[in-house]
Amino acid sequence: MKRVGVFICHCGTNIAHTVDCEKVAKTAAEFPHVVFSTDYKYMCSEPGQMVIKNAIKEHKLDRIVVASCSPRMHEPTFRKCMESAGLNPYLLEMANIREHCSWVHPDKEKGTEKAIDLVKMAVAKVVKNTPLTRSSIPIHKRALVIGGGIAGIQAALDIADAGYVVDIVEKEPSIGGRMAQVDKTFPTLDCSACILTPKMVDAAQHPNINLVTYSEIEKVEGYVGNFEVTIRHKARSVDVSKCTGCGTCWEKCPTKVASEFELGLGTRKAIYTPFPQAVPNKPVIDRDNCRYFKTGKCMVCQKLCPTGAVDYTQEDQLETIRYGAIVVATGFDLFDHSVYGEYGYGKYPDVITGLQFERLINASGPTAGKIKRPSDHKEPKTIVFIKCVGSRDEAKGKPYCSKTCCMYTAKHATLVKEKIKDSQAIVFYMDVRTPGKNYEEFYQRAVDEYGVQYVRGRVSKIYQKGDKLIVKGEDTLLGKQVEVEADMVVLATAMVARSDAGDLARKVGFSYDQHDFFTEAHPKLRPVETHTAGVYLAGACQGPKDIPDSVSQASAAAAKVCGLLSKNEMATEPIISAVNESICSGCGLCISICPYKAIDLKTITERVHGKIHERQVATVNNGLCQGCGACTVACRSSALNLRGFTNEQILAEVDALCL
Ligand SMILES: Cc1cc2nc3c(=O)[nH]c(=O)nc-3n(C[C@H](O)[C@H](O)[C@H](O)COP(=O)(O)OP(=O)(O)OC[C@H]3O[C@@H](n4cnc5c(N)ncnc54)[C@H](O)[C@@H]3O)c2cc1C
Ligand code: SF4
Ligand code: SF4
Repeated sequence: MKRVGVFICHCGTNIAHTVDCEKVAKTAAEFPHVVFSTDYKYMCSEPGQMVIKNAIKEHKLDRIVVASCSPRMHEPTFRKCMESAGLNPYLLEMANIREHCSWVHPDKEKGTEKAIDLVKMAVAKVVKNTPLTRSSIPIHKRALVIGGGIAGIQAALDIADAGYVVDIVEKEPSIGGRMAQVDKTFPTLDCSACILTPKMVDAAQHPNINLVTYSEIEKVEGYVGNFEVTIRHKARSVDVSKCTGCGTCWEKCPTKVASEFELGLGTRKAIYTPFPQAVPNKPVIDRDNCRYFKTGKCMVCQKLCPTGAVDYTQEDQLETIRYGAIVVATGFDLFDHSVYGEYGYGKYPDVITGLQFERLINASGPTAGKIKRPSDHKEPKTIVFIKCVGSRDEAKGKPYCSKTCCMYTAKHATLVKEKIKDSQAIVFYMDVRTPGKNYEEFYQRAVDEYGVQYVRGRVSKIYQKGDKLIVKGEDTLLGKQVEVEADMVVLATAMVARSDAGDLARKVGFSYDQHDFFTEAHPKLRPVETHTAGVYLAGACQGPKDIPDSVSQASAAAAKVCGLLSKNEMATEPIISAVNESICSGCGLCISICPYKAIDLKTITERVHGKIHERQVATVNNGLCQGCGACTVACRSSALNLRGFTNEQILAEVDALCL
């Protein structure tokens, strides 16, 4: 006879306001196998856990049901509590009577009925639970950081400082990310390059950091502690071990093309470093534009390179390295507004994005920091800034707030007023959101000290008249139409996920949301972890973020990595899939279903009617399986079963509800 204890939590009034917890506890006491049942205000609290521990001792309970919040919240808490009372932690079942019940039902009577049903099902299941034990896997003490923006650099520096070897894989020829394009940074207005470039150099010179630039992730196999990552080193056409970064090649190269780093506002050569402070300061050849690769002629760079570093014969190289942990820090892109034709972006050269504006005001930018109109290089006197371009716009599929635009627009308007004394800076806005330290003060200074004019309302139309841009909109506070003759318009376009974000997530094997931003394991309690053990997130790849938030998250991810790498081995969750080889037909359907690539086929030998036969059956890699259960429903022979969630246990729950 099993001895089940049932513990009903009020969660303050979270549960108790729509569920009669006492009644649930009394009813549960009558369920088969239940020998003790009670309710308590906060079951997760220290005294609440004592109630459980004392009951386990007093009533000789051998398994328990806790009816409270979601298991995602407190399952580990109650498992620990059971362990300290001497019971196997997997002899616990949780009934979610908060998220699944009290929070969604306004009616107390019906809520109570549903809570009773949920507890009844949990009791039926826990009776069939068996003790499970964790196994352990070794940890390889080397980390990979994907993306060398400020988040990736910070994470790598922290991991390296703790004594672990870390590789930063960056797809561009230099690390630095978007912050390298930014001029001054809110809220302190310190120069971005002055705070970023020392970190870039620190990363390059750190004995524990390897910079792997102009490279991408080709394939990821393995599991926490033992990832096997194949990296594609793209052909640079320059031997970095010989190149001294003298610059002769890019000075003499005759081919000029639009620079990606300058966002079309400046040019670069076919052999180039993206920006003067690039790290490493070694060029790459853009083969699509290089005359030699297009016509077989030129070779100026090779002839003039004093160290013989230019090598047109280089090919992409693949390298496989083992890592214990991975930090993904691939950042963001900007919403391409030209596809909508709205506001004349892509049509009028003087309608530019906020990031292009950063290049215009940047001392190392295409205009050496002088604000000039792209069309005629004249100094603009009236500049209109439009916020929330794409962001908070359901119609454009970006209902979220991009979080940085309110602040960088206030920064841009301030810098206009600082650099062009007789200028007018007008900001069209829906709201001003300043939820950071010293952010509100920064915005207020833009208005009060610099005289930036804020107009609450949407711009309806922009068109060209002579050399002016006519901006028409509505001032919703004054309730009247406004028209501004502007010299330049700057759009604060939405921060969006990188276009290859989904591909990368699928390669590494973690999830992403409907906007392709990477998904954290829990928005409040596990904000830097993914659902894939050993893979962590940092920076704007997870959602729009400014530099302070990106840096904090990077350090948090690094702390998680160091925690993991500090162990020689780690315990794995026992709730994973198991194969019943005797009924597995070896069809392999589960292999394609498993999102974590955890299933393979293996050959077994068996004796049938006195003869030795070989056949194929599925086998589950315990390190890779995340216990999602997808394979168990796909298997036509019912050969796969999830430990802790066997078919028998699930059916017992269904029976408890229906019979
Ligand atoms: C116009 C503008 C102005 C801003 N001004 C400020 C400011 O003043 N203050 C402030 O706090 N914040 C500001 N921000 C926000 C700031 O830019 C971001 O917070 C910061 O860049 C986020 O850093 P990150 O490392 O997460 O991403 P990123 O800077 O985007 O870096 C990501 C890196 O990963 C690389 N990468 C991407 N995909 C891959 C891949 N598949 N494989 C390998 N590498 C990859 C990229 O090439 C890049 O180097 C501004 C943003 C904008 C748009
Ligand atoms: S071969 Fe000529 S065009 Fe190509 S990178 Fe060298 S100098 Fe430039
Ligand atoms: S439960 Fe099955 S599908 Fe899910 S991770 Fe494990 S093996 Fe893969």
